[in-house]
Amino acid sequence: MSLREFIEAERAAAGAVLEIEEEVSTDYEAAAIMKRHDGGPILVFRRLKGHSYQAAAGVCGSRERIYRAIGADKETYYRRVSWAVQNPKPPELVESGPVMEVSEPPNLEGLPIFRHYEKDPGKYITSGIVVARSADGSFQNASVHRMLVLGKDRLAIRIVPRHLYAMREDAAMLGKDLQVAIVIGTHPAVMIGVNSGPDYRVNELWVANSLLGGRMKVVKCPDVDISVPWDAEFVLEGEISADETADEGPFVDLTGTYDIVRKQPVVRIKRVMRRRDAIYQALLPGGSEHKLLMGIPKEVRMYEAIQKAVPKVKGVRLTPGGCCWFHAVVSIKKQADGDGKNAAMAALGSNPSLKHVVVVDEDVDIDSPEEVEWAIATRFQGDSDLTLIEGARGSTLDPSSDQTNILTAKLAIDATIPWSKPKEKFLRAAIPEATRGERAAERQ
Ligand code: MN
Repeated sequence: MSLREFIEAERAAAGAVLEIEEEVSTDYEAAAIMKRHDGGPILVFRRLKGHSYQAAAGVCGSRERIYRAIGADKETYYRRVSWAVQNPKPPELVESGPVMEVSEPPNLEGLPIFRHYEKDPGKYITSGIVVARSADGSFQNASVHRMLVLGKDRLAIRIVPRHLYAMREDAAMLGKDLQVAIVIGTHPAVMIGVNSGPDYRVNELWVANSLLGGRMKVVKCPDVDISVPWDAEFVLEGEISADETADEGPFVDLTGTYDIVRKQPVVRIKRVMRRRDAIYQALLPGGSEHKLLMGIPKEVRMYEAIQKAVPKVKGVRLTPGGCCWFHAVVSIKKQADGDGKNAAMAALGSNPSLKHVVVVDEDVDIDSPEEVEWAIATRFQGDSDLTLIEGARGSTLDPSSDQTNILTAKLAIDATIPWSKPKEKFLRAAIPEATRGERAAERQ
């Protein structure tokens, strides 16, 4: 199940693929087109100035597309991803695959890597899955990182203190560089699996394989002891240096604002494997794809946690206006007064980056900002239904928080119907004719 197979399936099923036939520069021009179509169709850039490669962009740019990619819908994707995280399945190891059609010395400047924003220091790989082998050889990890092109065989990689960070530290203690294979151009289920947040030492590619129904195959890289999806578009083999660092940033993050410059590790690329007609996968920083790939796996973990606090959770959304990171809407089937506040506390407790949470009843469509606002307008009172928590741990990404100590204020808005008042006052009036029409439609 490859990137190109997914694009063709989407073209056939939803018609949501837009071909860009005119010649476009990878410097800003392609990014501007991505911005214009953000959240819309998959874009296929047919002709990139100075390159013979094509590029695909916005592949994971809509919720519906991501749901389709993992064989789920808006009601079931929580369970689907949770199940895959609990049941990672090793992919079949095969001798060779399409990604091995070409094997060549690295020349990153020859790849159609995009430059996105005005103040970016250079070209950034934004959809690269970094697959690493632990220094003791015992496990493989996969995670997505932004990487700045420093030259024909060098990248600066942003690594926040999570799994890959720990693996590099372990390798450095043994005086070793960390072996990696950077995978570019995969089926979107692989991106979701890789972002799904299983425990340390669980290979995220196995989670992705479960999401793909066990149909993933992997090949062993020739130069590093790492298995990668056999049908990827590109694989860059190399190592993350134990000691060499370089300036990384400024880079536009989820918020659409610039992240600061930091010293970050250098990746040295030794070899590039690719398909003969490889399609480069681009992803716009701060675009809807970036937000959804970060947000959807978090929603799954929040859903699991909130379910432990209140019996019936209908849905959890990290909303696009809140960068799919800072704002959540949770819908519950309320069974007692106080359920709204408990759900809000569970939401805040399960996601440290969250700042504001709105809890609504199950009759409110959490994908509609207007309906959520209606619930706040008609079911919420600021003196009794608002909870303020001061000085809690927040997100480094929020420019309004205290970014030195990463402290932030958190708000919970309980916009569920208060049970002390007659429920009928809060329910939307129905028009009988429309109701009969709906029943007729249901019978058909
Ligand atoms: Mn991991």
